Amino acid sequence: MRYAEVAVDAAVGYDRTFSYSVPPSLDVLPGQTVMVPFGPRRLQGVVFSLPPAPQVPETRDILSASQTGPVLSDTQLRLARWISDYYMSPLFEAASLMLPPGGRVRLKSYLTLSAAGGAAEGPPPTEYQEKVLAFIRRHKRVAEDRLLETLGRGAGTAVRRLVERGLVTRTQGRAGASVGRRYRAYARLPFPAPEGLAGRLSDMARRAPRQAALLSRLLKERTPIVLAQARREYGAGAVRALLDRGWIEVESVAVDRDPLAGLSVQPSPSVVLTSTQEAVVAEVRAALDEPATAARSFLVEGVTGSGKTEVYLDSVRHCLQRGERAIVMVPEIALTHQTIERFAARFPGNVAVLHSGLTAGQRFDQWWKVRQGEYGVVIGSRGAVFAPQPELGLIVIDEEHEWTYKQQDASPRYHARDVALRLAELSDSVVVMGSASPDVQSYHMAMRGHFKLLRLPDRVVVNGGATRAAPGVSPLAAVEIVDMRRELREGHRLIFSRPLLRAMGDCLETGSQAVLFLNRRGSASFMQCRECGFTLGCRRCDITMTYHKEAQRLLCHHCGDRRIPPSRCPACAGNKMAYYGVGTQAVVEEVSRRFPDVTVLRWDRDAVKRPDEYERLLTRFRSGEAQVLVGTQMIAKGLHFPSVTVVGVVLADVGLNVPDYRAGERAFQLLFQVAGRAGRGPAKGVVVIQTYQPDNYAVRAAAAQEYRRFYAEEAAYRKEQGNPPYGGLIRMLYTHTNRAMCEREAMRVTEGLRRERDSWGYSDVEVLGPTPAYPARLRGRYRWQLILRGAKPRALLDRLAVPPGWVVDVDPVGPG
Ligand code: ADP
Ligand code: ZN
Repeated sequence: MRYAEVAVDAAVGYDRTFSYSVPPSLDVLPGQTVMVPFGPRRLQGVVFSLPPAPQVPETRDILSASQTGPVLSDTQLRLARWISDYYMSPLFEAASLMLPPGGRVRLKSYLTLSAAGGAAEGPPPTEYQEKVLAFIRRHKRVAEDRLLETLGRGAGTAVRRLVERGLVTRTQGRAGASVGRRYRAYARLPFPAPEGLAGRLSDMARRAPRQAALLSRLLKERTPIVLAQARREYGAGAVRALLDRGWIEVESVAVDRDPLAGLSVQPSPSVVLTSTQEAVVAEVRAALDEPATAARSFLVEGVTGSGKTEVYLDSVRHCLQRGERAIVMVPEIALTHQTIERFAARFPGNVAVLHSGLTAGQRFDQWWKVRQGEYGVVIGSRGAVFAPQPELGLIVIDEEHEWTYKQQDASPRYHARDVALRLAELSDSVVVMGSASPDVQSYHMAMRGHFKLLRLPDRVVVNGGATRAAPGVSPLAAVEIVDMRRELREGHRLIFSRPLLRAMGDCLETGSQAVLFLNRRGSASFMQCRECGFTLGCRRCDITMTYHKEAQRLLCHHCGDRRIPPSRCPACAGNKMAYYGVGTQAVVEEVSRRFPDVTVLRWDRDAVKRPDEYERLLTRFRSGEAQVLVGTQMIAKGLHFPSVTVVGVVLADVGLNVPDYRAGERAFQLLFQVAGRAGRGPAKGVVVIQTYQPDNYAVRAAAAQEYRRFYAEEAAYRKEQGNPPYGGLIRMLYTHTNRAMCEREAMRVTEGLRRERDSWGYSDVEVLGPTPAYPARLRGRYRWQLILRGAKPRALLDRLAVPPGWVVDVDPVGPG
């Protein structure tokens, strides 16, 4: 008998496989997907190993195996084990990150009314059962989980009775749309072409002119034409007749859905690196050439424009020259179009893209072509780390500090940077990370010697053919912090402080451009009663709703709930409801009032919903059509606007008051990027930061463009508190629709954990909380959390099973 250890698609704890026997009719290999029986269900699984003996005496047979053979490599199987163990998620979930698009099969149970109802037997259905029956009748065929979601869990019992009595039939079917190769039908001449076809054409032209026209085109052009097009142009009847006579035939051709197909890029040759860049790349080359080098992971610290991307490009080139392949990760695809284009231009035809913005079909085709080794470079967002890139030699992580590298809202809650580091270890690859303001954790690792820190301290200046790193030539922008409390005290209650107005006036007068930055959408942030102070929150989430002037609606930015602004206060019934705060819309209006001749563009998620709109807006601003761009934090990232000389941060405080140990880092990152915007061109720039907390260390360090100063202060705080990188964190979150139940469960588990900790003597693990999470309610569910903190907070959870219903987040980023 042969046996297989299979990770099964069920909530089974982490790093766990189950033993199955392999029937003689099946061939399975590690890395292959299979269907297996699991309790009463059929589930998908991934084969991890083929051991000589099972873990248990009784095994059941594997039911079927996928036709495609193994899809996970040995390295990926090992990576999946690490992810499952480290992030405490089921092994199958970890492995499923690496399955081809559409490769995950979920069987769902569906309910239908039975054809010949067993209704005659037994008592008539209860009133509640009738309600369930009516629901199924209305939908004809309904997924069981959808029914339970709509009618409530309680409906489960009713469904079971109805199935037992034969009134309802339960079937299993594949959930979700499937994706596969796409074929397109072509019309072509048979080979060899029928005798005397050409001779008959003139005769045919009289009797059947359309058939003749199609035939003569095929004869002349000698290339197949798309069948649908032939039907359109020559008529379905003509096509049919030719097919019937065997004068043409249909051929199916697999279509390659290539996301870069429409992109026209000029191939661009390599540049000559500056000596600083050269020194950095030399280190990477040495690591690629010599697997035994001490340093395998590099952190490139360099401001925007210091030539990091050129360093990545050259490192990739060297990797390709060695016959190895590379994965390049970039944070948010819409914003890094420029990066993709640069890679596509440097390595024409050799770049695949993989990210969530592609259609399922495009992802499918790219994945399989990558797997075949057709691309030297895969570029994509965090999921690109799971690309099936053979002979991997190099992983590049651009903007490594970006939080989008962490998967936040689905299990496994992995961090792509940490996964990449682990993958590099397993595959002997080299990692190059880059940032202008590295993640505090990464910088700490570099300080400790885990990564080699490489610096590009100066911006690259291209000057009439001579390129050099030029300290002092492109001076950093002058940054001014404006104390908004003082503005208020002195009677200036406007959105723009006097210094910002002055700077904008000077800038616009000389025909330069300005960018105004704001961390909020909408025209006024929230609604408050001037009499009782009541603020209007979302009914389902515990957060304030935002007023959107254009729609005249209040909008919850978490769940999307909308409501009409009330004219009377819901709390005190007073009629003095007022709008407070500023949003992009209000800023746009204020600019227009102050500078009536100026064209203003607005950029936030309301104005720019699709990548092409984003590109259009950028082009308009770059062309000088508009003088002012107003936007949310999206504009803080990686953009080059040479003629911008004024950057205004309308309110820097946003984010500083969020209950999260990384609030300071987040605020710093945003302000640091924004402040780096100005002064990129020949003219000197001004950055004005308006804030109610002018002495905050993150605001100060960002204004001074001093990463190391921020790092030093932030690291000291973290050390004092035992927060990462000086201690590990695990967040445990519980949600429930009932407030009291939620709190009670949170208390119960927190106290249980404390007791366990004391009895095991894990005195170095702190159990913090429980506290309401942030926000305290989301989509109608209350949320409570607790945090384990310490050198090895994990030790405690290894002793205990995670209680059911709790979400575990290892190394959480951002507030709950
Ligand atoms: P970063 O990625 O650090 O923001 P880039 O690599 O984008 O920096 O470089 C900034 C600009 O300078 C880009 O337009 C790039 O093409 C150019 N550049 C960088 N290095 C060189 C070089 N060695 N020679 C010529 N141009 C360069
Ligand atoms: Zn809401």
